[in-house]
Parts: sequence; structure tokens; C-alpha cells
Amino acid sequence: MTKHEYCSLETLEGIEKAERLKQDGWIITNSTPFSVTMIECEHDNTEYIPYESDTNVQENYICLDCGINLPLPEEDVDEQIKEHTVRT
Ligand SMILES: [Zn+2]
Repeated sequence: MTKHEYCSLETLEGIEKAERLKQDGWIITNSTPFSVTMIECEHDNTEYIPYESDTNVQENYICLDCGINLPLPEEDVDEQIKEHTVRT
């Protein structure tokens, strides 16, 4: 179950709340100059994208709810960062 929290960035309370949630592993799904919406995602809805040599598609494991790249169990962190850089 994914939980949503809205944090106003116009109050100190809201900023502190956002920072605390971020440290707890929450992810920002929507942000404006005045607010952020954060979710605590359990990554229940995931999709594995296998490497395809034909199209040179990188192997990926993503969460369909929050859209982040999840770490592949046997892949090292450098590889993840490289993939992320290429994607964005
Ligand atoms: Zn997720």
C-alpha cells in the first residue's frame, strides 16, 4: 500500500517533514516551488526489463508506481548510476 504525504515548503514544519520523510526513504512524486508530494512506496508493482542486444536496451528493474529504478540484486552501484545518467 502506497502512502502519500503532502508537504508545504512555505512553512518550516513542512520543510522539516519533507526532509524527515526523505531520510526514511520516501520519494518525491510531485514538486512545485511551494510544495512537494511524497510517497512511501513498497514497490509492489514492478517490471523487469531484460537486456536486449538487438536494440541495446539496458537491463532495468523499475517500479511502476513511483517510476524509480530499483537495484538489480547482482548489479553494482556504479552500473546503476551509469544507467541513470544515460536515461536522463
Ligand atoms: Zn515504488
